[in-house]
Amino acid sequence: MSINVVTIFSAPDAQEGKEHLIELIESAQDFICPCCCREEFRVLEQKTAAYANLQQMSPTMSAFVIEVVHALSPLSEILARCDYSQRAPSLDETTPGGEFFELSNAVWRKEFWFANDIDPRHVVLLMDHVKQETDWLATYMPSGKAAVHFGEFAK
Ligand SMILES: [Zn+2]
Repeated sequence: MSINVVTIFSAPDAQEGKEHLIELIESAQDFICPCCCREEFRVLEQKTAAYANLQQMSPTMSAFVIEVVHALSPLSEILARCDYSQRAPSLDETTPGGEFFELSNAVWRKEFWFANDIDPRHVVLLMDHVKQETDWLATYMPSGKAAVHFGEFAK
């Protein structure tokens, strides 16, 4: 199974602002709204959460990665639409999750790659994308932003 990858090579653009967030909201608008999803998961006692980390992908490339756990339908369909793929959970910064063997153990994963020697301003831009993405994810989760973890892996 291949994974969709987002790579940023373009120059940082101050005009861009919240464009990424708007894109995500538009991609998800055919589905249940965030408040109804959150309420449904709250009733089901789903501990939906997101883990954002920096990972070494190759000797020359790194990536910000987001892994979402306990994402039932309809959030799973929204994530699939927004370039997330089901993978095994990552172990740490140098051990990205690969193929999953048990569906019950799979996480929804998205990767934002960049070259290690890229201008640091690109990395700042990419971090802003990741923050917009986790803010958006939080709107679907019963615990909201408290369910978003940076620099921490799913246990
Ligand atoms: Zn609603």
